[in-house]
Amino acid sequence: MDWKNLPSSGGGVEDGRGGGLPGGGIAVGGIGGLIIALIAMFFGINPGSVLGGGNTPTTQTQAPTQSGAPDQTYDFVDRILGSTNQVWSGIFQQAGRTYTPPKLHLYSGYVNTACGQASSAVGPFYCPLDQKVYLDTSFFNEMNQRLGGGGDFAYSYVIAHEVGHHVQNELGISDQVERAQRQARSEAEANSYSVRLELQADCFAGVWGNHVSSLANLTQQDVTEAVNTAAAIGDDTLQRAGQGYVVPDSFTHGTSAQRVHWFMTGFKSGNPNNCDTFGQNYGQL
Ligand SMILES: [Zn+2]
Repeated sequence: MDWKNLPSSGGGVEDGRGGGLPGGGIAVGGIGGLIIALIAMFFGINPGSVLGGGNTPTTQTQAPTQSGAPDQTYDFVDRILGSTNQVWSGIFQQAGRTYTPPKLHLYSGYVNTACGQASSAVGPFYCPLDQKVYLDTSFFNEMNQRLGGGGDFAYSYVIAHEVGHHVQNELGISDQVERAQRQARSEAEANSYSVRLELQADCFAGVWGNHVSSLANLTQQDVTEAVNTAAAIGDDTLQRAGQGYVVPDSFTHGTSAQRVHWFMTGFKSGNPNNCDTFGQNYGQL
């Protein structure tokens, strides 16, 4: 992947790194229900398990940057965001609409957001209240080590997935889904909406990949990286690894097979109208 061919976001990335308390845990127990309800996490961990207990381990790993060295991480994230701005602006424009790009906030350790305080333990997320994607790039190390192997295009998929949640917000899909969830008659039904929302964000990430594939010279190897990531973060795979068994009704992000399927649906077609994971034409463009 030649990500340096992609355009800068022109100031869309806020650098809040270095703000983490060195070696200190943070009081994540103070996070209200709001953030749990609102953050659309990429990493299918159960917030209850992250926030439960009095002594939550937090990741304090610094982002992989060195003072004095060119900041590759910032440049990379900036260009991936810039390319999502370009792709979605174009798609919205063709549909006679205007796309307002999100900001991307880099942090290390913990961060205050309009959705509440969060630690890097929750993984990358999007906060619709301030329309920002929050990313601690130590998550990339985590992907490398135990979530499918990482790689440039896999990291890009993470960012494009979170931007996909912003697109859902722009299209009013998030609101429609929240309404439907409030009327759900069971937790399983409410969770099924979360799964569809997450799978659509995967599909939107694929749509972005389709549109940058020639500019970024994507190869089969790049696509394999993203697919490996999607497979590694399916609810079934994570649950099997975490607790040794799978509880389908508690899924919030979809199975590995579903995540791969919807990413590839977006990637092959490049058309967000093919990302109707709800089967109800929510937010057609
Ligand atoms: Zn998500």
